[in-house]
Amino acid sequence: MMRRKLAVWATVSSAWFALMILPFAACTTVEPLHADCETPCGLLMERQPFEGWSCGDLIAAEARAVEVLDRATRGAAVPDARLQHSHACDAWAQVVVMPRAEEIWPDGARNVAGLAHCDRAPQLIEVTGRNRPTAGALAHELAHIAQGCWAGPVVDEGEDVAHANWKRAGVRAALAAFGG
Ligand SMILES: [Zn+2]
Repeated sequence: MMRRKLAVWATVSSAWFALMILPFAACTTVEPLHADCETPCGLLMERQPFEGWSCGDLIAAEARAVEVLDRATRGAAVPDARLQHSHACDAWAQVVVMPRAEEIWPDGARNVAGLAHCDRAPQLIEVTGRNRPTAGALAHELAHIAQGCWAGPVVDEGEDVAHANWKRAGVRAALAAFGG
């Protein structure tokens, strides 16, 4: 009798444990522990251990990215509304920006200036801290986040799937204004 009770309790408690753990397991891939900067659109900056970017720098970079992406994409051959002001700003809410002191090697084969992770919760932008926040690398990753890392099914000539509509939608033209 006692054994059976224990077995039932064990089953109930393991099910409860699984229920408790699963949501956390799905949401804690990246946990900002030191985010101490929030921009008007809601970007959060995780600065540990790299502290080379100020909160004011990130706020200025976000404002410039909003303005330049909005202007360039409105005048584009095939505008993508996701890149325009309020849509982009909404998409950036609670996205963690993590400037890295070290280089970023997504696949071990080449290093990159930035990387957008749309599949994480919270979404994350890793970007090399050797560039200024107002340089093109951050704006590039912000454009990916605004599109939910899905640029569309038709790939412009000279682009890849990740940047499929970036010529048509004016993103390349916008980013050219930033420089490295
Ligand atoms: Zn890209």
